[in-house]
Amino acid sequence: MAQSKVLMIYTGGTIGMIEDPETGVLTAFDFKHLNNQIPELSRIKVDLTAISLGMPIDSSDMNPTIWQDLAELVANSYDQYDGFVILHGSDTMAYTASALSFMLQGLQKPVILTGSQLPIGTIRTDGKENLITSIEIAANKDKNDESIVKEVAIYFEYALYRGNRTTKVSANAFEAFLSPNYPELAVAGVEINYKTNALFQSSQKELTLNCEMDDRVALLKIFPGFSTKVYKSLFDNNNVKAIVLETFGSGNAPNNSEFHTIIEEYIESGGIVVNITQCYTGSVEQGKYANSTVFNKLGVISGKDMTTETAITKIMHLLGNFTDRDEIINRFKNNIAGEI
Ligand code: ASP
Repeated sequence: MAQSKVLMIYTGGTIGMIEDPETGVLTAFDFKHLNNQIPELSRIKVDLTAISLGMPIDSSDMNPTIWQDLAELVANSYDQYDGFVILHGSDTMAYTASALSFMLQGLQKPVILTGSQLPIGTIRTDGKENLITSIEIAANKDKNDESIVKEVAIYFEYALYRGNRTTKVSANAFEAFLSPNYPELAVAGVEINYKTNALFQSSQKELTLNCEMDDRVALLKIFPGFSTKVYKSLFDNNNVKAIVLETFGSGNAPNNSEFHTIIEEYIESGGIVVNITQCYTGSVEQGKYANSTVFNKLGVISGKDMTTETAITKIMHLLGNFTDRDEIINRFKNNIAGEI
């Protein structure tokens, strides 16, 4: 079998930093000298090409335009490579992974996002293992010469997760990500152990690029005592096309008639309201309690067990690519890339 070809795309984040041994200052890594920095890379049996996507950024500066650039880069080089690794800051990695899972539908090859908590040039870095194993996963094929992973995934600290199921859970532990409502796709030990039953298989055989994103989306996290006076202005369909409500437990919010009227009027004017839970695990079940039954009557859409990152990027994607409200709602309710 010929060596797999992997394209590695560097966007920034801690992983791409090296520490000046004299000053201790962190500076962005020069990818032209990748093999000098990580000599182990020359021992991986992969034909690796590394490129940078513009100036390296802290992933707090990530945005839909860069998601588009990334998705286009993958789509335009899709036929030349067997897999893709995206080096990304961990802070917004779960948003980028979710967005790419909607932009790149019908993937038959892996797109693996990884990063690190410590820069690659520091002695205790987690970056080397994350990078090397991600490249292996991006290159791995089965006995029929097909990619094992055919979706957007995040590899971090010995585990591979579905990108649109993942959330950042720690600012300092090496185990920075978890997938609270879906099993790991693979675990890396002495060998990489793929959980084949958990891997996504798109019903679409050809890759389609759906790059448009509409950023007229808001997120409202409900808390005891939240004031409708403070948040009323958000519910304006001229500026905000969809609102993601992060509610309590299985989808509950205060039984506040003023809030219900605001939602009702917003939906009547064409706005879309979706309901996801603030809980780390579990799902929205509108109607389980009286405090959520009203949402069914008002036309609030249950986001079931979607993560916040997924609900936001999915609605951005749907508003960007479709105009018919019913179609947007219908697509929101159904799985696109294994996110529900
Ligand atoms: N602030 C950094 C970023 O997200 C943190 C990291 O890379 O882990 O770009």
